[in-house]
Order: sequence, then C-alpha cells, then structure tokens
Amino acid sequence: MAFIATVSLADGTPMPRFGMGTWYLGESAHAHDRELAALRAGLDAGVRLIDTAEMYGSGAAERLVGEAIRGYNREELFLVSKVYPHNAGRPEIFESVEASLERLGTDYLDMYLLHWRGAVPLSETVECMEELVEDGVIRHWGVSNFDADDLEELYGVFCGDHCAVNQDLYHLGSRGVEYEILPWMRSAGMPLMAYCPLAQAGDLRRGLVSDPAVVEVAHRHGASPLQILLAFVLRDPMVVAIPRSGDAAHVLENIAACDIELSGDDLSLLSSSFPAPAHPVPLDIV
Ligand code: NDP
Repeated sequence: MAFIATVSLADGTPMPRFGMGTWYLGESAHAHDRELAALRAGLDAGVRLIDTAEMYGSGAAERLVGEAIRGYNREELFLVSKVYPHNAGRPEIFESVEASLERLGTDYLDMYLLHWRGAVPLSETVECMEELVEDGVIRHWGVSNFDADDLEELYGVFCGDHCAVNQDLYHLGSRGVEYEILPWMRSAGMPLMAYCPLAQAGDLRRGLVSDPAVVEVAHRHGASPLQILLAFVLRDPMVVAIPRSGDAAHVLENIAACDIELSGDDLSLLSSSFPAPAHPVPLDIV
C-alpha cells in the first residue's frame, strides 16, 4: 500500500495529495473494463481521492467512478466533482449536484468545484455552495481555473474565503502559477490541485519528457520522466496531483512517484531547462 501524504484544508480536514483524474475516462465501451481496472488498481493501492466532473463524457466519467468505488468504504474516499459554469447558479446547481451524486452512487461530495468562471455572479455561486455545505450535500467547495485576481475577487464576496481549493494547470513545463497564484494560495492556507501534472504525457509541451535534464533526473532516481514530472509538482506540500490514466500499470507507476524526493541539485537541473517564472504569466488552461 502506497503512503500518500495529506494536506490540511483551512478547516483542518486532511485531503490526500495524490488522486486519480478522470477526464476522457468512461467514454468508450471498448475501454470500459481496462479503465475500471485502472481505477480499482489505484483504490486497491491506497489512492482515496478521485477527481471528476459533470462535463467529463457528459457524466460518463462520474458513472465509471461510481462503478469503481462500489464496495469501498465511502467515508475513506475523497470525491471531487465540478459544476459547469452555466450550471453554477440557482436552481441549476442543485440539479447538477444531485445528478452527479446519482451517477457516483453516493450521497455527498467531499469537494465541489466551480469548473471555470462563467456568467453567473460569484456571489450567487458561493451562496449556493454554502447552502449545499449546510445541507450536507457537499463537505467543501472550491474553484478551478482561477488566477490570483479571480481569487482576490472571490475573497471580496460574502463567505468567498470559505473556498477550500483552487484547481489549476501545473506541470514542470508550465510553471506560471508559481509566480503569483501559489504564493497567494499559500498565504490563504489554500491547497492547489495541479491538473495535467503529466502535461498529458508530455503532449502539452514539446520536448518536455525527452528533455536531457528530465531524463538525467529520472536516471538518478531509477524513475521514468513522467514520474519526475509528478515528483516535481508534489515537492510542494501545498500541491495535490491528480494524474489520469486508464491503464492499471500506469496508475501504479504514478503512485510510486509519491516516494520520489527531488534534491536541491535535481531541482536546479530541472529549472535550468524549465525555469520558474520571473514575471507574471497569463493563467495556462487546456
Ligand atoms: P495528465 O497530465 O494527467 O495526463 C494524462 C495522460 O497521461 C493520458 O494520456 C495517460 O494515458 C497518460 N499517462 C498517465 N500515466 C502514465 C504513465 N505512467 N505512463 C505513460 N503515460 C501515462 O492529463 P489530464 O488532462 O487528464 O489531467 C489530469 C486530470 O486533471 C484530469 O483527468 C482531470 O481530472 C483534471 N483536469 C481538470 C481540468 C480543469 O479544468 N479543472 C482540466 C484538465 C484536467 P494512459 O491512460 O494510457 O495512461
């Protein structure tokens, strides 16, 4: 069983720092058994956090997660789902969350995120999220694809500071969040959920996985370049990584990256190829 560290949310709730992403999972009948086995392999190895969304496969990913978690102790799991921006107001959000719960086969979410900002005023979304917490439908709420200005604005809204996490794109080849967003979140005690931590197996940044610095650090640790990408985001105790895989062997390889500790030398080498930002960078999204 892998050791997966936790990070404390502002209210003290522990949140696992490693989880399984689910974008594109559940969409193909042909891949169903393989993807189900991948999620179950992760659960059997000790992964407790799963990240999903009503958007993914129009509910198909949530349905697959529901199938995967059947038989596991719900209280031990940490389920995260997301509401579309156009559903993030009344009355739509209440219907959205119920539909997500139904597909997941559970009666509460550990975390419910606004997937990205839309036309619904933040004040209305926060009010609804707070009601859902009060009613026990969700335990925490957060946001996604927010930059520091968005977070600042959110904090200006009544109860906006109850936001528990922000989920943004973060990988070695895209370090913009390190300039302003991560410091802002650190001072607020708000963990960052790093999405695309593998840069979609390197596809989001040409040359990332084959970069000599990444290959050298991987060699030092007897690890794969993708494991080094995970170890890179996980070096920060305020960051949660949610790599996605529909392949059980890949899931286990990803979990093993939780044990890799990068040295100062490793980090300097990685930064020589992929430097930390020296000035504000627009928020990267997919
Ligand atoms: P990732 O960076 O997690 O990369 C996923 C890709 O990496 C897949 O092609 C997968 O293929 C491959 N992969 C995973 N592990 C391995 C491995 N060990 N060896 C080789 N290939 C591997 O990309 P995602 O875009 O999926 O991001 C992760 C999660 O973050 C999403 O699934 C979703 O839950 C969340 N997300 C949130 C967003 C938001 O707006 N809030 C936006 C994007 C993502 P294979 O299946 O073959 O292993």
